[in-house]
Parts: sequence; structure tokens; C-alpha cells
Amino acid sequence: MGRYTGAACKLCRREQMKLFLKGPRCYMSKCPIETGRPVPGMHGMARGRKLSDYGTQLREKQRLRRQYGLQEGQFRLFFDRVSRKRGVTGELLLQMLESRLDNLVYRLGFAPSRRAARQMVLHGHIKVNGRKATVPSMIVKAGSKIEISAKAKSKEMARRGLELAEAHTLAPWLTVDAAAACGEYVRVPTREEIAPVVNEQLIVELYSK
Ligand code: SF4
Repeated sequence: MGRYTGAACKLCRREQMKLFLKGPRCYMSKCPIETGRPVPGMHGMARGRKLSDYGTQLREKQRLRRQYGLQEGQFRLFFDRVSRKRGVTGELLLQMLESRLDNLVYRLGFAPSRRAARQMVLHGHIKVNGRKATVPSMIVKAGSKIEISAKAKSKEMARRGLELAEAHTLAPWLTVDAAAACGEYVRVPTREEIAPVVNEQLIVELYSK
């Protein structure tokens, strides 16, 4: 299945929660979730019936996957990778998603959304530890330095992103130097610190069937 290119807000309406896919608009009162727009589709208004266990697990997985902008195959691969590691699978999954390069570019404030961050990475505007990085799904190690390339266009994009990000608190596991357009992924966040309001245990149960 190809990458979803439809309206971002439709995904939030489907999940009935803010997934923060559109940057500044997500913090405004005209966000469709704030205005109470119903679930999309003909029967959107009528939806409300109780979900089965499978349905609940599926929705939880879709919420997390859509929040980070991953396709099903990619998400499943991530899950398979963490399920082979020692530790709590759900927590490791969230930590791995947080360590993706596109997510870190977004969290550092260089881009207004994960979608925009992905584009920045793909177009060569980002360096990790001094080397150009063009793979949005790259897993960045704690202690790595993420910087904007020296190109004037890249700096301008990051400056605009940082201006918008000023109103939001920087995640405690990151540091940023706005003037130098660079930041550091200081440490892996704990489960309590990671924002997605999902029950990752339901995702583990879904994939363990
Ligand atoms: Fe649209 Fe952002 Fe609101 Fe989601 S959170 S509905 S993407 S404005």
C-alpha cells in the first residue's frame, strides 16, 4: 500500500484524537478535533458502537502508526525489531519511534510537523554527527548531534520552524541551539516522558496473535 497522501485532518477525525500532523494549525481553535467534527464517512455521526477487543487493539495501533507517519509494513518491521530485544516491547517500540531521524528533526523544532521533517531529511537539509543523512527512518543513537546543512535554504527552513516551535516546550531529552541551527539527542526518553497517549500493550497483543 502506498503512502497516504490525503487530508491529514481526516486521519485525526478517524482516530478521534489530535495526532498533530499539520504543524501550527494543530494548536489553533479551528482544528477539526477542537471544533468537534465527526468521524469521516457516511456513517461518521452514527459511529459509537462498542468495539470488539480486536477493534480496540487495531485502533490503538493505527493511532500510533499514523502519529509517526509510518506505513503498515514499516511499522510492522519496527515492531519485529523491538520484539527480538530484551525489555518491555511496547516501551521499546515507543523509544525506537522517538529515535527516528524525522521525529527528532520535528521534536527539535526544525520542522512544523513530522511530514515536513521527513521532507527536510529526504531533500538533504539535515546532518547527523557532521554527515549528511537522507533516510527519515534512520535510528539515531543517543548522544548524536543533529544539525541543519549549511545551505541558505536549509537554514531558512529551520529558522521558520524554530520560530513556530518557540511557543512549545522542548522535550527534556533534547537540547537545541537555535542560533547555530543544531541540536542534540541527549538520551533515550522514558515511557512516562513520551507523549503519544496510546496503550502500547494493546499493540503488542494485536501483533502477538
Ligand atoms: Fe488537523 Fe492537526 Fe487538528 Fe489533526 S491535530 S485535526 S492534523 S489540525
